Amino acid sequence: MQLTGSLADRPVTVAWEVTHGAMNGCPAPRMCVDLTPGECLDVVDQIAEAAPRLLLIAGDMAARPDLVDIVARANAHGIWVALRPSIRARLLDNDFDTLRRAGVRSLSVSLGNAHAHGAVRRISRGLDVLTAARRARLAVQVKSSIPELADLRRFSQVMQTLQPSEWRMSLPVPKRGEETPDADRTEKLLAALSRLPASTGVPLSLSDAPHFRRIAIQSHARAHSRRRILPLNDGRGRIFISHCGEIQPGASFPIACGNVRLHHLLEVYREATVFRQLRDPDLLKGKCGRCGFRLICGGSRARAYATTGDYLVEDPACGFRPVSSPLDHPMKLPSALRALLLRLNPDFSRTRSIADPVNLRELSSGSHACVTGFDLPAETRRRLLELGFLPGTPLHAVRRAPLGDPLQVEVRGYHLSLRNREASGIQIETR
Ligand code: SF4
Repeated sequence: MQLTGSLADRPVTVAWEVTHGAMNGCPAPRMCVDLTPGECLDVVDQIAEAAPRLLLIAGDMAARPDLVDIVARANAHGIWVALRPSIRARLLDNDFDTLRRAGVRSLSVSLGNAHAHGAVRRISRGLDVLTAARRARLAVQVKSSIPELADLRRFSQVMQTLQPSEWRMSLPVPKRGEETPDADRTEKLLAALSRLPASTGVPLSLSDAPHFRRIAIQSHARAHSRRRILPLNDGRGRIFISHCGEIQPGASFPIACGNVRLHHLLEVYREATVFRQLRDPDLLKGKCGRCGFRLICGGSRARAYATTGDYLVEDPACGFRPVSSPLDHPMKLPSALRALLLRLNPDFSRTRSIADPVNLRELSSGSHACVTGFDLPAETRRRLLELGFLPGTPLHAVRRAPLGDPLQVEVRGYHLSLRNREASGIQIETR
């Protein structure tokens, strides 16, 4: 099953490593020649056709004197630009002023691994950068590794004091010889994190931990239920360009699927086999393939690849155990038995071969479902996407008008009415 909505058409975010050494390693070291200033401007034009958001990852900003030109070109295209500079580089207040005037909207300050050697020096340097960015009136996202459970309260107090626009934590994708995060320990950490925002007042997000969406939904975290839960993953809404133009699904996902010097970014996103497979939840293996949350989660494909060499196997850092149920059986069950099993089974994983409602019009009042795609004219589809009907979004059919049209639907915490002709073009998976 391929997604048929906007995430199959184009990514939401492009991450671009604009300087050599900003990230670790290169998948094609023999072709490893930095993009020239002219090539960089061509890449920005490609990005403008592909995605509305751009994250520029810069190691030493001095190594890219045309950075301001890149930002200005992206800004002229109406792209929302964020910048993650290395905090090792010497950054001056007027650097930030210039970048803001060129069009940088947000700065991402990475504090790295809070437990690694040199962490105190790095954190204090990160705080200097954060202060300078604030002086330049830039929104600041703070990025860090996930703290240990015992340190969580202390870290959240620090964030409460700093009040960044977002606290983004990353769950490690192991490199060669490194250990995979323990699944049960990660489960406890993420559950504790899902309870944090209400007390800190700082929105948080996670990278390489898509199962946090599942935990937020399971724990009914109120702060999260009001936030948009976008089902973005590497290759599904996200794409990465390395400093030498290699196109990958993600920064920690070193499979080169093309190069911006030879291929168009959007074509690679839409057509490359790896990207197409990453967007097809039916190809997932192991428990991710059986999991009812696979449409909004799907696990970290980068971690699956890093630990096994197969990017479709289950995410080893997820502790969820999907319930195997008779609903998984491909035969059609009598409707009364099916309804009973659905009520008893907290996990809604099943195959498409069961005769379920496949579009929103057929969903009965009071039922829950998940958006899987659209079969609608482009204009209607765009309007629904703007309203938050992204693939993977949970929704609830509240009630129908007495004559059956329109249908009132709850999605992302608000209610709206849909005509039957619109509802019949919204493809769903029931839960
Ligand atoms: S089993 Fe896989 S799809 Fe399900 S929550 Fe865990 S990582 Fe996500």
